[in-house]
Amino acid sequence: MAELSYPFPLPPPTGELVDVAEGVKWLRMPLPLGLDHINLYLVADEDENGPGWLIIDTGISNDVTRALWQQILAGPLAGQRITGVLCTHYHYDHAGLAGWLTEMLRVPLYMSYGEYFTLRTLAASTEVNLSWQYLEYFQRAGFPAEHLDDLGAVLAMASQLISSPPTAFRRLRAGQELTLAGHRWQLHLGEGHVAEHMLLHDAQRNILIAGDQLLPRITSNVSVLPSEPEGDLIGDWLGSLARLQALPEQTLVLPAHELPYHGLQTRIQQLQRHHGQHLDHLRRLCQSQAPTIYEATQQLFAHRGKLQPIDQMMAQGECLAHLNYLHQRGELERSLDETGCYRYRCRY
Ligand SMILES: [Zn+2]
Repeated sequence: MAELSYPFPLPPPTGELVDVAEGVKWLRMPLPLGLDHINLYLVADEDENGPGWLIIDTGISNDVTRALWQQILAGPLAGQRITGVLCTHYHYDHAGLAGWLTEMLRVPLYMSYGEYFTLRTLAASTEVNLSWQYLEYFQRAGFPAEHLDDLGAVLAMASQLISSPPTAFRRLRAGQELTLAGHRWQLHLGEGHVAEHMLLHDAQRNILIAGDQLLPRITSNVSVLPSEPEGDLIGDWLGSLARLQALPEQTLVLPAHELPYHGLQTRIQQLQRHHGQHLDHLRRLCQSQAPTIYEATQQLFAHRGKLQPIDQMMAQGECLAHLNYLHQRGELERSLDETGCYRYRCRY
């Protein structure tokens, strides 16, 4: 299979902008996480007040990122206007500063309906106590009870990485077209990583701003959350990949992490194979054993060694996404054991 190629092998230095196409600039913001950076883009735009730049994704809400934005606005963008902020999805590395930027610059926020209201909900979630639904989610999975206290604090912490979102937004919908400085960008829907991720495709120049939907090396987290325990996120994710296969192979993909690349079809096939392998692994496991979600997670991610509670929760959500896929398609049967945990067995 063809390999991916990377036309811009070096990321922009902190606080600097790199042109990746005419009217499309790339910048990076640091993240205090395992994944240590996010790619943001600026796209040339024009509104009733004249030309300017549309900011695509914002970085996390912390002092370092705010200072870098100030530096960029006063440096490489000095004297230029910002026309708006567009967030591909609600995650804090993408939308953390949406509120701060739109407030400071007095510009609109563009987001899909689902992502905008999820952002507002998350920003307002400062509750440390886990609800009975959340406790049931972890209990059904067989998650060790002694880690639950840590999780409540971790879940509440997410709201601190987000500046207060604006009270109004402009809605993005899949299929809609945005004209930015004369270039037409088609909006595509990505599901599975989040509910209503937006990708922007310029069909004429073959450029795709892909957010977290098509990362070149790492695989996006496709994880069932306690707020929707029966979610069929792998079904959603694979469905999105199948739709994105309609885009041309020579597309320049601008991802939110790692480097811009060519090789969209290759990458989609790699991602399909990755999830196919996870599904096969779980099919085999549920033939020989009847694992709980926690046990299946330990097996599926054995190569990662011992995980911290937060990573364990994400891994568990990812494992459950694959189990839900097989269960909801009738391949696995699910029963509750005497301790209140779900167990999964192959039907065939
Ligand atoms: Zn994300």
